[in-house]
Amino acid sequence: MSYLRLQGLTKRYPGHLAVSDLNLDVERGEIVALLGPSGSGKTTTLRLLAGFEVPDAGSIVVDGEDVTRLAPAARRFGMVFQNYALFPHLDVGENVAFGLRDVPDVGARVAAALARVDLTGFERRRVTELSGGQQQRVALARSLAPEPRVLLLDEPLSNLDPTLRERTRRELREQIKRTGITTLFVTHEQEEAFDLGDRIAVLNAGRLEQAGSADDLYDRPATSFVARFVGRTSTLPGRLAGRGPGRRVIVRPEALRFAPDGHITGRVIARRFTGGFALFSVESDGVSFDVHAPHDAVKVGDEVRVTIERVLMEEPE
Ligand code: ADP
Ligand code: MG
Repeated sequence: MSYLRLQGLTKRYPGHLAVSDLNLDVERGEIVALLGPSGSGKTTTLRLLAGFEVPDAGSIVVDGEDVTRLAPAARRFGMVFQNYALFPHLDVGENVAFGLRDVPDVGARVAAALARVDLTGFERRRVTELSGGQQQRVALARSLAPEPRVLLLDEPLSNLDPTLRERTRRELREQIKRTGITTLFVTHEQEEAFDLGDRIAVLNAGRLEQAGSADDLYDRPATSFVARFVGRTSTLPGRLAGRGPGRRVIVRPEALRFAPDGHITGRVIARRFTGGFALFSVESDGVSFDVHAPHDAVKVGDEVRVTIERVLMEEPE
Protein backbone atom coordinates (compact mmCIF):
# COMPACT_ATOMS: atom_id res chain seq x y z
CA MET A 1 0.00 0.00 0.00
CA SER A 2 1.22 3.51 -0.76
CA TYR A 3 2.47 5.81 2.03
CA LEU A 4 -0.38 8.31 1.73
CA ARG A 5 -3.82 7.27 0.51
CA LEU A 6 -6.81 9.54 -0.12
CA GLN A 7 -9.88 7.41 -0.62
CA GLY A 8 -13.28 8.69 -1.72
CA LEU A 9 -12.54 12.08 -0.17
CA THR A 10 -15.61 14.32 -0.38
CA LYS A 11 -16.29 17.80 0.99
CA ARG A 12 -19.56 19.61 0.54
CA TYR A 13 -20.18 23.27 1.38
CA PRO A 14 -23.77 24.56 1.45
CA GLY A 15 -24.93 24.33 -2.16
CA HIS A 16 -21.47 23.37 -3.42
CA LEU A 17 -19.50 20.17 -3.86
CA ALA A 18 -15.89 21.37 -3.37
CA VAL A 19 -14.19 17.94 -3.46
CA SER A 20 -15.91 14.94 -4.97
CA ASP A 21 -14.92 11.29 -4.43
CA LEU A 22 -11.19 11.98 -4.70
CA ASN A 23 -8.88 8.95 -4.84
CA LEU A 24 -5.13 9.49 -4.85
CA ASP A 25 -2.15 7.37 -3.81
CA VAL A 26 1.19 9.01 -3.01
CA GLU A 27 4.38 7.00 -2.58
CA ARG A 28 6.85 7.64 0.24
CA GLY A 29 9.17 10.49 -0.76
CA GLU A 30 7.09 11.45 -3.76
CA ILE A 31 6.21 15.07 -4.61
CA VAL A 32 2.71 15.41 -6.04
CA ALA A 33 1.29 18.65 -7.45
CA LEU A 34 -2.42 19.36 -7.20
CA LEU A 35 -3.02 21.40 -10.34
CA GLY A 36 -6.29 22.92 -11.42
CA PRO A 37 -8.08 26.15 -12.26
CA SER A 38 -9.37 28.50 -9.58
CA GLY A 39 -12.24 26.94 -7.64
CA SER A 40 -11.38 23.35 -8.60
CA GLY A 41 -10.94 22.23 -4.98
CA LYS A 42 -7.15 22.35 -4.53
CA THR A 43 -7.06 24.34 -1.31
CA THR A 44 -9.98 22.39 0.13
CA THR A 45 -8.11 19.13 -0.53
CA LEU A 46 -5.02 20.50 1.21
CA ARG A 47 -7.11 21.71 4.17
CA LEU A 48 -8.74 18.27 4.45
CA LEU A 49 -5.25 16.74 4.56
CA ALA A 50 -4.02 19.25 7.15
CA GLY A 51 -7.10 18.64 9.30
CA PHE A 52 -8.51 22.17 9.09
CA GLU A 53 -11.63 20.71 7.44
CA VAL A 54 -13.46 17.45 8.10
CA PRO A 55 -14.57 15.49 5.02
CA ASP A 56 -18.21 14.46 4.54
CA ALA A 57 -17.01 11.11 3.25
CA GLY A 58 -13.81 9.26 2.56
CA SER A 59 -10.55 8.71 4.39
CA ILE A 60 -6.93 9.81 4.66
CA VAL A 61 -4.42 7.11 5.61
CA VAL A 62 -0.73 7.79 6.31
CA ASP A 63 1.74 5.00 6.83
CA GLY A 64 -1.12 2.64 7.64
CA GLU A 65 -2.76 5.02 10.13
CA ASP A 66 -6.20 6.51 9.48
CA VAL A 67 -5.85 10.21 10.32
CA THR A 68 -9.16 11.39 8.84
CA ARG A 69 -10.61 12.49 12.19
CA LEU A 70 -7.38 13.45 13.97
CA ALA A 71 -6.71 17.04 15.07
CA PRO A 72 -4.20 18.87 12.86
CA ALA A 73 -1.26 18.63 15.30
CA ALA A 74 -1.81 14.90 15.91
CA ARG A 75 -1.34 14.16 12.20
CA ARG A 76 2.29 15.34 12.24
CA PHE A 77 1.93 17.06 8.87
CA GLY A 78 3.95 20.17 8.03
CA MET A 79 2.27 23.06 6.25
CA VAL A 80 3.73 25.99 4.31
CA PHE A 81 1.12 28.67 3.79
CA GLN A 82 0.85 30.79 0.67
CA ASN A 83 1.81 33.98 2.55
CA TYR A 84 4.41 32.04 4.65
CA ALA A 85 2.73 33.18 7.91
CA LEU A 86 6.06 34.00 9.54
CA PHE A 87 6.04 35.91 12.84
CA PRO A 88 7.51 39.34 12.06
CA HIS A 89 8.38 40.09 15.70
CA LEU A 90 10.47 36.89 16.01
CA ASP A 91 13.86 36.34 14.41
CA VAL A 92 14.57 33.52 11.96
CA GLY A 93 15.73 31.08 14.64
CA GLU A 94 12.67 31.74 16.82
CA ASN A 95 10.39 31.26 13.83
CA VAL A 96 11.98 27.92 12.99
CA ALA A 97 11.92 26.85 16.67
CA PHE A 98 8.19 27.58 16.90
CA GLY A 99 7.03 23.98 16.48
CA LEU A 100 9.82 22.51 18.65
CA ARG A 101 8.70 23.35 22.15
CA ASP A 102 9.09 19.88 23.69
CA VAL A 103 12.31 18.98 21.91
CA PRO A 104 15.70 18.82 23.67
CA ASP A 105 18.52 20.74 21.98
CA VAL A 106 16.33 23.11 20.01
CA GLY A 107 19.37 25.06 18.81
CA ALA A 108 20.83 22.06 16.97
CA ARG A 109 17.47 21.25 15.38
CA VAL A 110 17.06 24.83 14.21
CA ALA A 111 20.58 24.86 12.77
CA ALA A 112 19.95 21.58 10.95
CA ALA A 113 16.63 22.85 9.55
CA LEU A 114 18.27 26.07 8.32
CA ALA A 115 21.12 24.09 6.74
CA ARG A 116 18.60 22.06 4.74
CA VAL A 117 17.30 25.24 3.11
CA ASP A 118 20.79 26.79 2.68
CA LEU A 119 20.30 29.44 5.38
CA THR A 120 23.06 28.39 7.78
CA GLY A 121 23.90 31.21 10.19
CA PHE A 122 20.67 33.16 9.65
CA GLU A 123 19.30 32.47 13.17
CA ARG A 124 19.50 36.04 14.49
CA ARG A 125 18.28 37.80 11.34
CA ARG A 126 14.89 39.52 11.39
CA VAL A 127 12.45 37.92 8.96
CA THR A 128 11.43 41.40 7.78
CA GLU A 129 14.99 41.95 6.48
CA LEU A 130 14.88 38.87 4.25
CA SER A 131 14.04 38.67 0.56
CA GLY A 132 10.84 36.89 -0.51
CA GLY A 133 12.81 33.82 -1.52
CA GLN A 134 14.58 33.69 1.85
CA GLN A 135 11.28 34.07 3.71
CA GLN A 136 9.91 31.17 1.71
CA ARG A 137 12.89 29.06 2.83
CA VAL A 138 12.42 30.05 6.47
CA ALA A 139 8.78 28.95 6.21
CA LEU A 140 9.94 25.65 4.73
CA ALA A 141 12.58 25.19 7.47
CA ARG A 142 9.95 25.90 10.16
CA SER A 143 7.56 23.31 8.76
CA LEU A 144 10.32 20.69 8.33
CA ALA A 145 11.95 21.19 11.76
CA PRO A 146 9.47 18.98 13.69
CA GLU A 147 10.11 16.20 11.12
CA PRO A 148 6.57 15.85 9.83
CA ARG A 149 5.40 12.75 7.97
CA VAL A 150 3.93 14.71 5.10
CA LEU A 151 4.66 18.22 3.83
CA LEU A 152 1.80 20.34 2.44
CA LEU A 153 2.41 23.55 0.52
CA ASP A 154 -0.23 25.97 -0.79
CA GLU A 155 0.95 27.87 -3.90
CA PRO A 156 4.50 27.88 -2.48
CA LEU A 157 6.06 30.33 -4.93
CA SER A 158 3.19 32.62 -5.86
CA ASN A 159 4.54 35.48 -3.74
CA LEU A 160 7.86 35.62 -5.61
CA ASP A 161 8.47 37.74 -8.65
CA PRO A 162 8.48 35.78 -11.93
CA THR A 163 12.23 35.95 -12.55
CA LEU A 164 12.98 34.44 -9.15
CA ARG A 165 10.32 31.79 -9.39
CA GLU A 166 11.97 29.48 -11.88
CA ARG A 167 15.26 29.25 -9.98
CA THR A 168 13.48 28.96 -6.64
CA ARG A 169 11.36 26.08 -7.98
CA ARG A 170 14.46 23.98 -8.62
CA GLU A 171 15.97 24.88 -5.26
CA LEU A 172 12.74 24.04 -3.48
CA ARG A 173 12.59 20.68 -5.22
CA GLU A 174 16.18 19.91 -4.20
CA GLN A 175 15.54 20.92 -0.60
CA ILE A 176 12.42 18.75 -0.39
CA LYS A 177 14.13 15.79 -2.08
CA ARG A 178 17.10 16.15 0.29
CA THR A 179 14.79 15.50 3.27
CA GLY A 180 12.98 12.70 1.44
CA ILE A 181 9.63 13.89 2.75
CA THR A 182 6.36 12.91 1.08
CA THR A 183 4.92 16.15 -0.31
CA LEU A 184 1.69 17.51 -1.75
CA PHE A 185 1.53 21.03 -3.06
CA VAL A 186 -1.14 23.14 -4.65
CA THR A 187 -0.61 25.29 -7.70
CA HIS A 188 -2.57 26.72 -10.59
CA GLU A 189 0.62 27.13 -12.64
CA GLN A 190 1.51 24.33 -15.00
CA GLU A 191 5.22 25.12 -15.14
CA GLU A 192 5.42 25.04 -11.37
CA ALA A 193 3.65 21.68 -11.32
CA PHE A 194 5.95 20.27 -14.01
CA ASP A 195 9.20 21.59 -12.46
CA LEU A 196 8.43 20.68 -8.87
CA GLY A 197 6.24 17.58 -9.00
CA ASP A 198 7.17 13.97 -9.65
CA ARG A 199 3.52 13.50 -10.56
CA ILE A 200 0.69 15.89 -11.17
CA ALA A 201 -2.92 15.40 -10.12
CA VAL A 202 -5.27 17.52 -12.25
CA LEU A 203 -8.43 18.70 -10.49
CA ASN A 204 -11.50 20.11 -12.20
CA ALA A 205 -14.70 21.07 -10.40
CA GLY A 206 -13.71 19.02 -7.35
CA ARG A 207 -12.92 15.89 -9.34
CA LEU A 208 -9.59 14.26 -10.09
CA GLU A 209 -9.32 14.14 -13.88
CA GLN A 210 -5.93 12.40 -14.08
CA ALA A 211 -2.80 11.79 -12.03
CA GLY A 212 0.45 11.13 -13.85
CA SER A 213 3.83 12.41 -14.96
CA ALA A 214 4.09 15.56 -17.06
CA ASP A 215 4.65 13.33 -20.10
CA ASP A 216 1.53 11.28 -19.30
CA LEU A 217 -0.63 14.39 -19.08
CA TYR A 218 0.86 15.99 -22.17
CA ASP A 219 0.98 12.97 -24.48
CA ARG A 220 -1.76 10.74 -23.08
CA PRO A 221 -4.46 12.93 -21.54
CA ALA A 222 -7.18 10.81 -19.98
CA THR A 223 -9.94 13.37 -20.53
CA SER A 224 -10.63 16.23 -22.91
CA PHE A 225 -10.36 18.60 -19.93
CA VAL A 226 -6.74 17.53 -19.37
CA ALA A 227 -6.02 17.70 -23.11
CA ARG A 228 -7.14 21.33 -23.21
CA PHE A 229 -5.86 22.38 -19.78
CA VAL A 230 -2.28 21.10 -20.10
CA GLY A 231 -0.17 22.81 -22.74
CA ARG A 232 -1.60 24.47 -25.82
CA THR A 233 -4.16 22.89 -28.13
CA SER A 234 -6.54 23.80 -30.92
CA THR A 235 -9.87 22.18 -31.64
CA LEU A 236 -10.69 21.42 -35.27
CA PRO A 237 -14.18 20.52 -36.44
CA GLY A 238 -14.51 17.21 -38.22
CA ARG A 239 -15.03 18.78 -41.63
CA LEU A 240 -11.59 20.50 -41.41
CA ALA A 241 -9.81 17.54 -39.86
CA GLY A 242 -11.16 15.16 -42.47
CA ARG A 243 -13.18 13.28 -39.87
CA GLY A 244 -16.60 14.13 -41.23
CA PRO A 245 -19.28 15.91 -39.19
CA GLY A 246 -19.95 14.85 -35.63
CA ARG A 247 -16.33 14.21 -34.61
CA ARG A 248 -13.97 17.03 -33.75
CA VAL A 249 -10.29 16.67 -32.89
CA ILE A 250 -7.97 18.25 -30.36
CA VAL A 251 -4.44 18.84 -31.71
CA ARG A 252 -1.22 20.39 -30.44
CA PRO A 253 0.53 23.14 -32.44
CA GLU A 254 3.62 20.95 -32.89
CA ALA A 255 1.47 18.16 -34.35
CA LEU A 256 0.43 20.44 -37.21
CA ARG A 257 2.81 21.06 -40.11
CA PHE A 258 2.91 23.40 -43.09
CA ALA A 259 3.07 21.14 -46.16
CA PRO A 260 2.35 21.72 -49.86
CA ASP A 261 0.06 18.68 -49.91
CA GLY A 262 -1.68 19.48 -46.59
CA HIS A 263 -5.44 18.93 -46.80
CA ILE A 264 -6.32 22.04 -44.77
CA THR A 265 -6.05 25.31 -46.67
CA GLY A 266 -5.94 28.58 -44.75
CA ARG A 267 -4.29 31.91 -44.25
CA VAL A 268 -1.69 32.95 -41.67
CA ILE A 269 -3.25 35.70 -39.55
CA ALA A 270 -0.67 36.16 -36.80
CA ARG A 271 2.73 35.08 -35.57
CA ARG A 272 3.99 34.90 -32.02
CA PHE A 273 7.77 34.92 -32.04
CA THR A 274 9.32 32.67 -29.38
CA GLY A 275 12.86 32.29 -30.72
CA GLY A 276 13.89 29.61 -33.20
CA PHE A 277 10.30 28.49 -33.42
CA ALA A 278 7.15 30.58 -33.60
CA LEU A 279 3.47 30.03 -33.05
CA PHE A 280 1.49 30.87 -36.17
CA SER A 281 -2.26 31.45 -36.05
CA VAL A 282 -3.93 30.11 -39.15
CA GLU A 283 -7.52 30.74 -40.19
CA SER A 284 -9.44 28.31 -42.31
CA ASP A 285 -13.13 28.56 -43.09
CA GLY A 286 -13.92 30.57 -39.97
CA VAL A 287 -11.83 28.38 -37.64
CA SER A 288 -8.45 29.45 -36.29
CA PHE A 289 -5.76 27.19 -34.90
CA ASP A 290 -2.07 27.34 -33.97
CA VAL A 291 0.87 25.83 -35.82
CA HIS A 292 4.34 25.56 -34.24
CA ALA A 293 7.01 25.95 -36.92
CA PRO A 294 10.42 27.55 -37.56
CA HIS A 295 10.03 31.31 -37.13
CA ASP A 296 10.61 31.99 -40.83
CA ALA A 297 8.55 29.07 -42.19
CA VAL A 298 5.72 31.33 -43.46
CA LYS A 299 4.69 34.98 -43.23
CA VAL A 300 1.55 36.66 -41.94
CA GLY A 301 -0.87 36.93 -44.88
CA ASP A 302 0.46 33.81 -46.67
CA GLU A 303 -2.01 31.28 -48.07
CA VAL A 304 -0.87 27.94 -46.62
CA ARG A 305 -1.67 24.27 -46.48
CA VAL A 306 -1.50 22.38 -43.23
CA THR A 307 -1.36 18.71 -42.43
CA ILE A 308 -2.23 17.00 -39.13
CA GLU A 309 0.55 14.68 -37.98
CA ARG A 310 -1.00 13.50 -34.76
CA VAL A 311 -4.41 13.85 -33.18
CA LEU A 312 -4.29 14.21 -29.40
CA MET A 313 -7.93 13.32 -28.84
CA GLU A 314 -11.12 12.88 -30.78
CA GLU A 315 -14.51 13.74 -29.29
CA PRO A 316 -18.14 14.25 -30.29
CA GLU A 317 -18.82 17.62 -31.86
P1 ADP B 1 -9.08 26.23 -5.38
O1 ADP B 1 -8.11 26.21 -4.27
O2 ADP B 1 -8.85 25.16 -6.39
O3 ADP B 1 -9.17 27.57 -6.05
P2 ADP B 1 -11.07 25.86 -3.31
O4 ADP B 1 -10.74 24.54 -2.74
O5 ADP B 1 -10.62 27.06 -2.54
O6 ADP B 1 -10.54 25.94 -4.82
O7 ADP B 1 -12.64 25.99 -3.49
C1 ADP B 1 -13.39 25.02 -4.20
C2 ADP B 1 -14.83 25.48 -4.22
O8 ADP B 1 -15.39 25.43 -2.91
C3 ADP B 1 -15.00 26.91 -4.71
O9 ADP B 1 -16.13 26.97 -5.54
C4 ADP B 1 -15.19 27.70 -3.44
O10 ADP B 1 -16.02 28.83 -3.69
C5 ADP B 1 -15.88 26.70 -2.52
N1 ADP B 1 -15.50 26.94 -1.13
C6 ADP B 1 -14.26 26.89 -0.62
N2 ADP B 1 -14.24 27.12 0.71
C7 ADP B 1 -15.55 27.35 1.04
C8 ADP B 1 -16.23 27.67 2.28
N3 ADP B 1 -15.55 27.77 3.44
N4 ADP B 1 -17.56 27.84 2.22
C9 ADP B 1 -18.23 27.72 1.07
N5 ADP B 1 -17.68 27.42 -0.11
C10 ADP B 1 -16.35 27.24 -0.13
MG1 MG C 1 -6.76 27.81 -3.61
